[in-house]
Amino acid sequence: MLSSERSEESSMDASLCLRSVQHEKRVMACTSVSFQAFSLSFRAVARNPLHGCFAQHDRAIVVKKAVTQSIGNHFAKVAVHHEKLFVIPMAQRSLVWFRNDLRLHDHEALTAALAESSDILLLYCFDERQFGKLPSGFPKTGKFRAKFLIESVEHLRQAVRERGGELLVRMGKPEQIIADLAGALGITSVYFHQEATSEEQYVESALRQNLNALGVRTREFWGSTLYHKSDLPMSIEALPDVFTNFRKQVEKHAQVRPLFPTPTRLKHFADVEAGEVPTLQGLGLEEPQPDVRAVMTFKGGESQGLQRLHEYIWQKDLLKTYKDTRNGLIGADYSSKLSPWLANGCLSPRKVYEEVKKYEAQRIANDSTYWLIFELLWRDYFRFIALKYGNRIFHKFGIKGKPREWSHDREAFERWVVGKTGQPFIDANMRELAATGFMSNRGRQNVASYLVHDLNVDWRWGAEYFESVLIDYDVCSNYGNWNYVAGIGNDPREDRYFNPKRQAALYDPKAEFIKRWIPELSSWDAKRLIEADSLEYT
Ligand SMILES: Cc1cc2nc3c(=O)[nH]c(=O)nc-3n(C[C@H](O)[C@H](O)[C@H](O)COP(=O)(O)OP(=O)(O)OC[C@H]3O[C@@H](n4cnc5c(N)ncnc54)[C@H](O)[C@@H]3O)c2cc1C
Repeated sequence: MLSSERSEESSMDASLCLRSVQHEKRVMACTSVSFQAFSLSFRAVARNPLHGCFAQHDRAIVVKKAVTQSIGNHFAKVAVHHEKLFVIPMAQRSLVWFRNDLRLHDHEALTAALAESSDILLLYCFDERQFGKLPSGFPKTGKFRAKFLIESVEHLRQAVRERGGELLVRMGKPEQIIADLAGALGITSVYFHQEATSEEQYVESALRQNLNALGVRTREFWGSTLYHKSDLPMSIEALPDVFTNFRKQVEKHAQVRPLFPTPTRLKHFADVEAGEVPTLQGLGLEEPQPDVRAVMTFKGGESQGLQRLHEYIWQKDLLKTYKDTRNGLIGADYSSKLSPWLANGCLSPRKVYEEVKKYEAQRIANDSTYWLIFELLWRDYFRFIALKYGNRIFHKFGIKGKPREWSHDREAFERWVVGKTGQPFIDANMRELAATGFMSNRGRQNVASYLVHDLNVDWRWGAEYFESVLIDYDVCSNYGNWNYVAGIGNDPREDRYFNPKRQAALYDPKAEFIKRWIPELSSWDAKRLIEADSLEYT
């Protein structure tokens, strides 16, 4: 029935006055065209909205049916209104490129693609360059982070499939893989979130170039911070170099945007191989061994991130004491532990904000509830600092450009890495990191300070080691904090120094943390341990 209708109507002449609304130029002047011709012409001008005028409404309806059948639902919405036929091309076939935004909630790029497209392809690409070696020789993405990433991608794929869609997974260079897919599948737009640092921006610009050559447009969004880049009360160039000045202005003049909704249904259009999520072994990495002393078990994925958020804030009701406990060292409860999910974008900072605001409305609002948002502002700050200073965050003299001679004593550095400096508080923290991929904020400040101020070793070695091992590695937070501790970043205080003995006395007075990670010292008296700084381990 449909095909006979179609052939009958296809041969029918229609007086169409087609006009490109976008360019206001006539595409086909009032002429008699067959529907095949219409269809072909339509495809040629598929990016411009068209409309045709008809003398009678009925005739317009018949034409609408034929046009819809001829061009298919994928390319345009066809509608009749007041005897006019409107052919409104969609953004058509879109590809959403997932990066450090491995979630479905609060995902602007995905939301926009869904609103503007008839067909969507979702893709995650393991960038082979992220699995090479760092200049210092460490794997660029170590086993803890790689495992978390693999789990996050698997969970995203599962969530997409539960909604009727598919997440394609590829390994290689995203700028080539996406361009190849776009060419082969007639993709017209690629949607993604922008990143803030050079390696990622290089990929974005190479992708833009490759897509441009194919006539494919990019739709780019900013989605990694609590406050949107465009809502800042100052330009990036004018970003204050002192955090407090930034925070005060943002708190006074900017607002956190509302969340984008989580899609309930997703479609998949192309008959294209889904691709396998790589294994750790396939990436040349070994499986991390669980350690009972770890603060908690981190599992990648959006639902796990949301679950941890719910557990921390609502189930365990820990938010109300966050400011008092956040300098802790042992266990899951002293801080939120949301960092790995935030770093991979499994969790949106705006989602965390929303839950904090709900908690404040329903349970209690105090210094602690405020302080979690305060910490998220630090996270924002380092991201904007990366935009402001570009590659200077990686430079030897940092964003301040402050000259300093660094030692390149490899042996001293390696003792620091394995937790054998002889300073028990430092060594306990470094052993925790090596065994679990996580370290508390208090620990990170201390070990970083020890490396740069006590050992005088080049801060970039420490930052690279963290990049390799941290499960929550985030390029801006990591390099921003290292700049800060090394005295070449955003710390207004010159030469801030963390005295490890004093820090251990304050934060580990019973040496529980030290003994936990250096069991060979478990019979030692706490006071003696805290005061020691040149131990020799067996
Ligand atoms: C040398 C050094 C390197 C660091 N490298 C990283 C890194 O690669 N990735 C990372 O996420 N954090 C990094 N941090 C910051 C901080 O140590 C961790 O964010 C925090 O320990 C994670 O635990 P949490 O989620 O329980 O934090 P919470 O105390 O619960 O804080 C909530 C969130 O706020 C953000 N946050 C807290 N403190 C900071 C901070 N100082 N800078 C930026 N964001 C912050 C994090 O997203 C964190 O998840 C680093 C800190 C130092 C001193």
